[in-house]
Amino acid sequence: MSPQHQALTTDQKKELSEIAHRIVDDGKGILAADESVGTMGSRLKRINVENTEENRRAFRDLLFTSDPALNKYIGGVILFHETLYQKSRDGILFPKILKDLGVVVGIKVDKGTALLAGTDGETTTQGLDGLAERCAQYKKDGVDFAKWRCVLKISDSAPSSLGIYENANVLARYASICQQNGLVPIVEPEILSDGSHDLQRCQYETEKVLSAVYAALIHHHVYLEGTLLKPNMVTGGQSCSEKFTPEQVAMATLTALRRTVPAAVPGICFLSGGQSEEEASLNLNAMNRCTLARPWRVSFSYGRALQASALSAWLGKPENEKAAQEAFLKRAQINSQASVGQYIPSGSSASASSQSLFQPSYSY
Ligand code: 13P
Repeated sequence: MSPQHQALTTDQKKELSEIAHRIVDDGKGILAADESVGTMGSRLKRINVENTEENRRAFRDLLFTSDPALNKYIGGVILFHETLYQKSRDGILFPKILKDLGVVVGIKVDKGTALLAGTDGETTTQGLDGLAERCAQYKKDGVDFAKWRCVLKISDSAPSSLGIYENANVLARYASICQQNGLVPIVEPEILSDGSHDLQRCQYETEKVLSAVYAALIHHHVYLEGTLLKPNMVTGGQSCSEKFTPEQVAMATLTALRRTVPAAVPGICFLSGGQSEEEASLNLNAMNRCTLARPWRVSFSYGRALQASALSAWLGKPENEKAAQEAFLKRAQINSQASVGQYIPSGSSASASSQSLFQPSYSY
């Protein structure tokens, strides 16, 4: 059903839908390289590298220039504001490097979380003020999609209905503003894996959260064909005593998604949420091998699970750049295979790729 007053023209819809489909084209996913200055600082600290603008630039440079074949695995890259205006060592703006490869350029537009008073530490996400103007400028600067992360948690009293509906509504406002300015919104309602809850509880809460998100998006006349969803996988909590196989995770996740995400949405790109690189790849692969039908592309939008091995190989040293690029490309290729259910683990995956990347109450 169309609203009485059209939100978008036919041409605007066509452009949005084409961008969204390009990002999740067969075998492609998203590299989330939009860590804020603070988050990047904590990544660099782990490898004893100082958090300077040049070091942040140098690491992103090695990722984006790793190999022309990157465009077989990566359909879109999410940047942080600072990175959008930085250049490669050869003096070429990063967005140009990515566009020349045929990779779609994205940007993080939220301004982080703020506490919802009277809840068990639940939050909403800020950044609506001036968002339309920022989106319009980003579009002029070569950006075609955006990301906004909302964070929910599972506890005895969370997610509360306030947490769920506030976050669903702010995601819908953000998505509407993006589309008005020609940007495909990635809608990210992340339920953190902190806690001891089991798989069933996570599935139940994921269904509640996603159904509220889609009700709000529809209420706000968001054009679903021109959006992408970035959800958590349905997993047990970090401190749950029971462990679940990739097949169990895949079945619970796809069951939740099939119940709540309309078939009009072109793609679902999971966040890795503290899983190890290998775990994130195996879970994605299991989803794409699952017998449950999937009306959307099921792919990845990983931050930690695409960059951890590369960071460990790099250590901030120019002589390690090649090794870091190889480590990154390897994960990109594996996740590309997993996005079509064709990843066959060799059994010899490097130990770094099996290390948990979990951080409590993760902020981005
Ligand atoms: P992780 O894959 O590291 O969870 O991050 C993805 C992301 O972009 C979170 O907003």
